[in-house]
Amino acid sequence: MRLVILDDYNLASEWAAKYIRNRIIQFKPSADRYFTLGLPTGSTPYGCYQKLIEYYRNGDISFKYVKTFNMDEYVGLPRAHPESYHSYMWNNFFKHIDIDPANAHILDGNAEDLEAECRAYEQKIAGAGGIELFVGGIGPDGHIAFNEPGSSLVSRTRVKTLAKDTIVANARFFGNNLSKVPTMALTVGVGTVMDAKEVMILITGAHKAFALYKAIEEGVNHMWTVSAFQQHPRTIFVCDEDATLELRVKTVKYFKGANDSSSVLILLTGEFRWLLSD
Ligand code: PGA
Repeated sequence: MRLVILDDYNLASEWAAKYIRNRIIQFKPSADRYFTLGLPTGSTPYGCYQKLIEYYRNGDISFKYVKTFNMDEYVGLPRAHPESYHSYMWNNFFKHIDIDPANAHILDGNAEDLEAECRAYEQKIAGAGGIELFVGGIGPDGHIAFNEPGSSLVSRTRVKTLAKDTIVANARFFGNNLSKVPTMALTVGVGTVMDAKEVMILITGAHKAFALYKAIEEGVNHMWTVSAFQQHPRTIFVCDEDATLELRVKTVKYFKGANDSSSVLILLTGEFRWLLSD
């Protein structure tokens, strides 16, 4: 596990975007070999998407041979609703880049048979060769995708009832009207994300500091589903200073030391080459 600490939200977003850009470029995707990327929605990844759009416009990167799989979608919210995750992804990312819409996969929360939709999604991911890099965000209660506290840590894509905390947190997108917030969602499971070759989790803001502490300094615990990624061989937590407020000073110092310029020289020749952003 690696923890990368940047000064603020903008720098964390830029680091994450560069990491994604570099991973795709290094992979050398082609018509016979697509790069498969797992993606989140929410306020956290917004800055990262803005940066990726900038890199696309500068000609640094193309998404022509990239397949994406989003983490989750509300049940019963029309696809065209401004708060659907379909709308979020198209408005904030996909419509600004050269991805083929057929390669941008998002669960259909209006499918007639929701369980069949979830099974088919897992099959599509497997058919694409699995996820190379899964990018995620977390909630203040440590949920990853909509894997709410208490979710199985080996769960697969399924229908989930949202926790009250999540419904309250999401009310801000629905005119602060709790009755308008969907109460169910389709979500990839913790196990689905664990199967990715690499996982990058973005955590910013003081309101996520306790969740980051639970994610990395305490044991694996299904009440903080993000903590499962301690057991993934290649997880990077990317955070800002505010999100580190509940960590031990020695944890912060260790990871800052591991990422400083002298360590980078060691990393360049070592097994952690994958860590480098630039
Ligand atoms: P946020 O949501 O990025 O809007 O904070 C993340 C989440 O709840 O998973």
